[in-house]
Amino acid sequence: MGSIVLFGPPGAGKGTQAQRIMEHTGLPQVSTGDMLRAAVKMGSPIGLEAKSFMDKGALVPDDVILGLIKERIQHDDAANGVMFDGFPRTIPQAEALSNLTEITHVLAIEVPDERIVERICGRVTCGACGKVFHDTFNPVPPEGCECGSFQEKRRVDDNEATVLTRLDAYHVQTSPLADWYRSRGLFHSVDGDRDIADITDDLLNILN
Ligand code: ADP
Ligand code: AMP
Repeated sequence: MGSIVLFGPPGAGKGTQAQRIMEHTGLPQVSTGDMLRAAVKMGSPIGLEAKSFMDKGALVPDDVILGLIKERIQHDDAANGVMFDGFPRTIPQAEALSNLTEITHVLAIEVPDERIVERICGRVTCGACGKVFHDTFNPVPPEGCECGSFQEKRRVDDNEATVLTRLDAYHVQTSPLADWYRSRGLFHSVDGDRDIADITDDLLNILN
């Protein structure tokens, strides 16, 4: 068994799909964005270093990210691999990753830029369980989150100005990874501008 990479621009639906395919893959979701936000909240040295980059929508330096990943994949739950969400985001990150664990699939969720701002600006997560919702496209049910204790949480970087910088970072620094993985025969892409459930079906078909 190896690891899976969920790939795509910010707001493509990587986290949403990771939550839906986790049961099927049996692999834990490893989101570098979530790990960095936890470090910022704790006020750890990594959090303090990462915060200024995250607030402007720029990528956090590779050495910081790779330190987090090397530590995370030592945990027992990563023994059979993980589902990386939002990592790798640069060629040096992908090169380093190739020496740490075997990647079996890179699943790219393709969404046009003009959809991204509305997706990101309407994103809501449950602070209690981490489930991702959207004000319009995937609203919190009237009875609340299935965890039973919905707490509305919105990210500070989910605003229009920062989204544009994040999209730019994606195009310049991250999108070259598509060819990098394609040339290694690992790259699969799905149309992410459709219903959430249809995208999940396609991803599961690729993995089966
Ligand atoms: P990422 O992890 O790639 O940044 P998310 O999974 O957090 O993206 O999704 C970003 C926002 O878009 C969330 O509010 C989510 O509910 C919404 N979303 C995800 N997939 C879709 C989809 N297929 N159609 C419409 N909205 C979506
Ligand atoms: P995300 O939650 O994936 O949208 O990431 C939020 C922010 O965390 C990004 O805008 C970056 O500042 C930072 N970040 C997350 N993952 C990485 C990564 N793999 N490399 C560099 N920066 C990252």
